[in-house]
Amino acid sequence: MIPSSAITAAPFWQEGSVPTLPCHPLPAAVDVLIVGGGYTGLSAARETAAAGLSTLVLEAGHIGTGCSGRNGGQVAYSLKPSFARLSVLHGRERAHAICREAFEATAYLRSLATRQGVDCDWQECGGFYGAHTRRHFERMVQEAEHQPKGLEQRISVVPKASQRDEIATDYYHGGCIYHDDTSVDPMKLLLALLRRAMDSGAIISDRCSAGSIRTAGGDFEVLTSKGIVKARKVLIATNGYSGPLSPWIARRVIPIGSYQICTERIGTEQVRALIPNGRNISDSRRVVVYYRPSADGERIVFGGRAALSEPDPLTCVARLKTMMTRIFPQLRTVRIDHAWAGWVAYTFDTMPHLGEREGIHYCMGYCGQGVPLAPYFGMKIGQQMAGLAEGRTALDGLPFPTRPYYRGKPWFLAPSVWAYRTLDQMGL
Ligand SMILES: Cc1cc2nc3c(=O)[nH]c(=O)nc-3n(C[C@H](O)[C@H](O)[C@H](O)COP(=O)(O)OP(=O)(O)OC[C@H]3O[C@@H](n4cnc5c(N)ncnc54)[C@H](O)[C@@H]3O)c2cc1C
Repeated sequence: MIPSSAITAAPFWQEGSVPTLPCHPLPAAVDVLIVGGGYTGLSAARETAAAGLSTLVLEAGHIGTGCSGRNGGQVAYSLKPSFARLSVLHGRERAHAICREAFEATAYLRSLATRQGVDCDWQECGGFYGAHTRRHFERMVQEAEHQPKGLEQRISVVPKASQRDEIATDYYHGGCIYHDDTSVDPMKLLLALLRRAMDSGAIISDRCSAGSIRTAGGDFEVLTSKGIVKARKVLIATNGYSGPLSPWIARRVIPIGSYQICTERIGTEQVRALIPNGRNISDSRRVVVYYRPSADGERIVFGGRAALSEPDPLTCVARLKTMMTRIFPQLRTVRIDHAWAGWVAYTFDTMPHLGEREGIHYCMGYCGQGVPLAPYFGMKIGQQMAGLAEGRTALDGLPFPTRPYYRGKPWFLAPSVWAYRTLDQMGL
């Protein structure tokens, strides 16, 4: 039993780094009002402000309340549907363009981190994906050897016999290294994007929520917890925290809890003994786990879908620690220092969506993989709002699907995850 009083129920990444923003009165009117101060909202704000539009970002909590200040910091090619699936839906040419967009997202983040002074502990560490079964390993090898032309990633196959070069466990049946995967400190990235938005002239108001949006003579009036603001354009960038602000969006995003723990400081030597090349790790299960060394290399940060909608992260600590020690029995006696949770946004077609409906812009739905996607598509929607041609994307105009009777409460999740877990246990 883990004494929960010894565990900090907050993201490890936020230790001492939650900023207090200056408390300005809200402007009465702006060109652009953005709801949500995560990667998406702040990246969009940077573009609209840099284009000369007066821009206000409203964040309901403190900076880092949403996923952007509490994720795993793993950066990988991040579209869920395969090229083959997208080709069936949209034709090969558009499918190719959509997949290229995901490569562009990673390239954009790399350029921010390595050439544009965005300090986020960017590490070119690569990722190791463990095969949960022999059959999964064979599938992984197939995929590595038959990548779609023009969409290749640098992948090396690691048979079980040499797996310990990558990870100190026999839990997997081999795996693959994705050499272009990287890692960031998610909160540092968020703070750097905050600074960029503010330096461009955007006003950020935290602890201020948008309660409703109504049209007023071609413009919008947004009722906030600090008063009414008029805006010519509005962007909803609330992802898994969307709530009732827009019933149309609530019908299209599926909020799902994701949970993480961080070990006590175990030292770089022990961390290196567990993950010798310092890579991000994930595996081939449907109900996935993901873990990595912390940016300082002193701890293991471990995450997974330990529950679906449990708001108290401490409730999930024992379950996550069991998942972790199944892989690393060496960590059985190690203390857990931090535990936290966040809400990611799935969509019914597992694609991100950006666009405009009835004059209100939206950008969201990264299906748990927004570290590269959210800054990129946030930038793109900001450019679109500023009327810039470079804001166009291959995803523009994709229908944003919903399902009959879905109003934002995902009653179907529990049976779906149960089915996925069962298939995982059967090794299928
Ligand atoms: C535990 C966890 C681990 C993850 N790990 C990874 C990973 O390793 N790699 C990866 O690629 N992705 C990961 N993700 C997903 C990634 O963090 C998100 O996709 C990304 O941060 C989404 O950014 P965003 O700006 O769209 O949304 P968010 O960062 O969630 O921001 C939305 C904001 O909107 C605010 N808001 C909501 N309603 C209102 C309102 N009415 N008024 C004002 N503000 C409002 C919320 O407070 C919130 O701060 C993880 C997520 C979680 C939770």
